[in-house]
Amino acid sequence: MKYTSDSLTDLTRTLLKGFGCDDEEADIVADHLVLANLSGHDSHGVGMLPMYGLQVLGGNLVPNQAPDLFDPIGAITCVDAKRGFGHHMALKSLDHAMKTIPEHKVAILGMRNSGHVSRIGTYSEYCASKGYVSLHMVNVVGHDSIVAPHGSRESAISTNPISMAMAVGNKAHPMLDMATSTVAFGKARVAHNKGVEMPDGCLIDRDGVPTNTPGPMVENRDGALTAFGEHKGSGLGLFVELFAGALVSRDTASTAEHMPHGAINALFSVILDPAAFDDVSAYEERTNDFYDYIKRLKPAQGTEEVLMPGEPEIRNREERKANGIEVDEETIRQLLEIGGEFKLASSNLEALLVKA
Ligand code: NAD
Repeated sequence: MKYTSDSLTDLTRTLLKGFGCDDEEADIVADHLVLANLSGHDSHGVGMLPMYGLQVLGGNLVPNQAPDLFDPIGAITCVDAKRGFGHHMALKSLDHAMKTIPEHKVAILGMRNSGHVSRIGTYSEYCASKGYVSLHMVNVVGHDSIVAPHGSRESAISTNPISMAMAVGNKAHPMLDMATSTVAFGKARVAHNKGVEMPDGCLIDRDGVPTNTPGPMVENRDGALTAFGEHKGSGLGLFVELFAGALVSRDTASTAEHMPHGAINALFSVILDPAAFDDVSAYEERTNDFYDYIKRLKPAQGTEEVLMPGEPEIRNREERKANGIEVDEETIRQLLEIGGEFKLASSNLEALLVKA
């Protein structure tokens, strides 16, 4: 069933307030999750709410947290997010870290001990909207590992995403936002909820044999997601663990405590002022020229058009804003169920949904 994005925002905000978030936090998290759906990343949209609710109930995720924003050392700023809602904590941390840019032309942020920060592209887009170029890496601990490094049949790390974006004024920002697993875990959850198989190459079973069936992995962490791009993508995922985990956080997947429904993110960000390199308009022109140069390439056989990273998100936003966001029945059932855990009546929640 397709629903309007506005009505999903209303439902999400209501659930978050039921979890204990104040108005500001509920707005930030609801906007983040619905924008993830609009961008085509249903893995990191409203379907995350049941997990957040369980984390709040378990005491692993804390509404309305005030992060410890430490004083910068040079251009490096550390933050302890104290298990607050990551969407909110990350924006506060970035704003705090970016105060070093006027003096140093660079801000480096290490935010540890955060609740789930969800779609990492949110943060590279946020920096781009302020005129900065940025790179972000996130590791995930607190739950059983889910990604098998290249050459292993056992999972050892999580889906450790990376995002980066260029800032180009009012034009579309080139923006890469990807898990270092072949697909994000949430895509296996969405496939399982819809009762469909996963594409080839995304999953292995407990014996290391490729499989397309997400159920055992999603329900029992039986089996693993594959790292993308064999040894190269796997190496990138391991280095995300080292940068965000060993360097920034106090934990990597090898040391972290496993909690029921836990997901602790650490964020390593590098934010640059392009004015330190050249005249900003010259840099923007080069970036836009390069964008157009890639767009002029002849498509490969079976491909209609060459896309720049970030273009699928922009197109999905236009299409889904106009035609609604598909949310499967199982996900809606889970949303109503978690609402019930917080004494929110299903009928009141359902009444917020508007079919597109
Ligand atoms: P994906 O594979 O759908 O897209 C990855 C990137 O490729 C995007 O930047 C997209 O613009 C680009 N892209 C897609 N198709 C393209 C094409 N045909 N041509 C050119 N570029 C193209 O994304 P994913 O790896 O499944 O990740 C999904 C989401 O999961 C991301 O938003 C990520 O931040 C999020 N994530 C979050 C966590 C966390 O713990 N917070 C962990 C893992 C992933």
